Amino acid sequence: MKTIGLIGGMSWESSHEYYRIINEKVKEELGGLHSARLILYSVDFEEIQLLQHKNSWEELTRKMVDIAKKVENTGADMIVICTNTMHKMADEVQKNISVPLIHIADATAEAIRDHGLGKVGLLGTRFTMEQDFYKKRISDKFGIDVIIPDEKERELIHKILYSELCLGKIIESSKSDFLKVIDNLVEKGAGGIILGCTEIPLIVNQKDVPVPVFDTTAIHAEKAVKEALK
Ligand code: GLU
Repeated sequence: MKTIGLIGGMSWESSHEYYRIINEKVKEELGGLHSARLILYSVDFEEIQLLQHKNSWEELTRKMVDIAKKVENTGADMIVICTNTMHKMADEVQKNISVPLIHIADATAEAIRDHGLGKVGLLGTRFTMEQDFYKKRISDKFGIDVIIPDEKERELIHKILYSELCLGKIIESSKSDFLKVIDNLVEKGAGGIILGCTEIPLIVNQKDVPVPVFDTTAIHAEKAVKEALK
């Protein structure tokens, strides 16, 4: 079994899901007392989110590259960045390490392709929804159209992510807000919904939504296990 290198803490509420899903999947595949061989480097998210909201992406890129190198040097056979947003610098990280980076958007797009969907809605932080690094990668590389909520809805989702879900607060009215935004995306033609922030699956899941949802936390964690057991 290969060693999975996780870069987490963004937020730890979702990293802890990665840890659980990866270990459950390894147990399911190998049985017995098997568990995942992994290294977790967990950051202080307050520092990271301040830099994100100041648009200090170069500094964040330097930090992520530095951490990825450390995790590689500690013995990881692959790098998994446990957040969608911080894939903004995924290409730069990959250029600076010699083990593969398991890209969350690629893993998600493969799952969407397996469902045969041509158009999906994307929920995530404002950075993920509004910038090109995520949705353009999915449309250019996989030919899948990605639509996003309108401005007001994006603002609301971003706020719920940083002021509730990343703090482990699950509030029923916020769940209704998410479901309304999803309904609007489905009305605009989305055949599926990307839960493109690793905390969203803490509040919304397949049972709540009439179209297929793509839980990026689970998809990414399971892809890492697949690579580790190859
Ligand atoms: N975990 C979130 C994501 O998947 C947001 C936290 C972050 O900004 O990294 O995008």
